[in-house]
Amino acid sequence: MDIKGHWLDNQSVAGDGVGTIDVHNPATEEVLASVWAGTEADANRAVESARAAFQGWRRTSAVERAHLLHDVANNIRAHWDALAELLTLEEGKPLPENEEELEWVADTFHYYAELGRHIRGTVVPSGEPENQLNMVLKEPYGVVGAIVPWNYPLLLLVWKLAPALAAGNTVVVKPSKMTPLSTLFLAENCMAHLPPGVVNVVTGYGGVVGETLVKHPDVPLIALTGSLAVGQRISELAAPMIKRLHLELGGKDAFVVAPDVDIEQSARALAYAALINTGQVCTSTERVYVAQDLASDFTGALVEHVKTLRLGPGIEPTTDVGPMIGAKFRADFAAQIEDARQHGASILTGGRVPPGFERGFFYEPTVLTGVDHSMVIMREETFGPAIPIMTYESFDEAIELVNDSKYGLGAVLRTNDARLAKRFYEDVQAGTIWINDPLTDNYAGPFGGMKMSGNARELGIEGLLGFMETKHVHWDFSPEAKEWWYPY
Ligand code: NAD
Repeated sequence: MDIKGHWLDNQSVAGDGVGTIDVHNPATEEVLASVWAGTEADANRAVESARAAFQGWRRTSAVERAHLLHDVANNIRAHWDALAELLTLEEGKPLPENEEELEWVADTFHYYAELGRHIRGTVVPSGEPENQLNMVLKEPYGVVGAIVPWNYPLLLLVWKLAPALAAGNTVVVKPSKMTPLSTLFLAENCMAHLPPGVVNVVTGYGGVVGETLVKHPDVPLIALTGSLAVGQRISELAAPMIKRLHLELGGKDAFVVAPDVDIEQSARALAYAALINTGQVCTSTERVYVAQDLASDFTGALVEHVKTLRLGPGIEPTTDVGPMIGAKFRADFAAQIEDARQHGASILTGGRVPPGFERGFFYEPTVLTGVDHSMVIMREETFGPAIPIMTYESFDEAIELVNDSKYGLGAVLRTNDARLAKRFYEDVQAGTIWINDPLTDNYAGPFGGMKMSGNARELGIEGLLGFMETKHVHWDFSPEAKEWWYPY
C-alpha cells in the first residue's frame, strides 16, 4: 500500500525509520492509506527546515505574506471536492459538516492574511520626549510546533497555522495519527507555493513526534489542541524550559433550557449541539439542565426528534450522524453509558450499537435521564453521542450546576428572557457563551477555555497576538552620559 511521506521543505519524503501507521475509514474500518510513524530524527529534521526558513519568512513583507496566505485559501477552493471527500473518509462526520469545516479553513486564511498585515506596534510616551523613542514591537517567536487532534483535523490546524504564519513564524505540524491524510493533502496541494520549510508536516505518534517538538530547544512555542491528559503531559515537559504553551483542551459543556422556551425548537437545538460530529466536538453539549416544569414535554420532544436521525457513513447524502472515530473511543463511550445505567440512569433511546452495523464504529444517539453529578457521565468528558438530562428548580441552581465542573470551555442557554441571558453570561465560567444558537463560531470572536479547558484563545485578534512576542525598544538619540550613571 501507498505510504504517504512527511512534508519537509515542500517535498514529500520517506520517514527515517521503518514503522508505518494505517489510517482507517471509521465508517467501514477499511485502510485508506498508510503514513510514516515519524521518529525523533524526522521531527528534528522538520525543526531544522523550519528554523532555516524562519529568517527569510519573518523578513517577508506583511503584504507579500498576505498574498501568499490568500493563495492558500484559493487553492483550498480549487481542491474542494477532493479535500471534502478525504476529510469525510478519514474522520467520519457527514459530508455537509466537512464542507462547513472547509469553509472555515479557507476563510481563516483570508481572515489572518488581512489581520496580519494590519497589525501595528505602538509608540509609547518616553521619559525624555525630545531625545528618546519608546516602541512596543510585535515579533514572531520562530518555529511553532502545532499539535492537532482528529475531530476537526484541518480547522483546528489552521486556527493555529494561519495566524502563526501571518505573524511571521514557521511551523512544524504534528497531525493526529488517525487523520493525517487531509493535512498532508492540504500541505502538498495548497501550500507548495510557500517558501520551502515555512510549513512542515511530520506524521506519527504523539509520544514520539509530539514530545520531540515539545522538548526541542529551537521550538519556543507549542500550540496544542487535545485532551486534558496530553495538555498536562506537555505542560510538565515544557515547564523547565519556560516554553510558551497554547493549550486548547477538553470540555464538558452544559446546555440550559429556561422555562420560557419553545420546546420543539429547543429540542432541535440541543440535538444539534450534542450530536454534531457524533458528539465528538470539544464544545459538544455533554450535560443538560431543563427547567422542572417543562422537563417531561421537553424530553419527550427530544427523544422523538433524536429517533428520526439517520445513522450511516458520512459520505452518504442521507446520513445525519456518522460513526465514532475508532474502536477504543466507542468502547470508552459505551463504558460511560453503562456506568450511568448501573448507577440508576434511564436510557430513553439509544444505549447500544445499532443493529445491522457490523462494520464501522457506530453507536446510537443516546438520551438519558435520572443522572446526577456523582456519575462519570456528568463529570468527565464523554466525546460521543450522549444527551444526559437533569432538571432544575431555580435558575440559581442551574448556574451552580453549570459551574460545577473542572472544565470551562463553552455553555449554551435557550431563553427569550433577557434577564436570564444576562445573568447567564455574567455568572457562567466558560470561554464561549451561546445564547439560543449553539456552537456557532465567529472569525473575530476569540475561542478558548477557562479553568482546565485551556489557557489560550484562537480566532480574533487574540488568536494572532498569541503567536507574537512583545518587545520594548528604548532608543536614546543622544550619546551624552546620564547624570545617574557612576560615579554616584
Ligand atoms: P489527544 O490529546 O489524544 O491528542 C491530541 C494530539 O496530541 C494528537 O496529535 C496526539 O498525537 C498528540 N499527543 C498525544 N500525546 C502526546 C504527547 N505526550 N506529547 C505531545 N503530543 C502528544 O486528543 P484527541 O483524541 O486527538 O482529540 C480529542 C481531544 O481534544 C478531546 O479531549 C477534545 O475535547 C479536545 N479538543 C479540544 C478543542 C479545543 O479547542 N479546546 C477542540 C477539539 C478537541
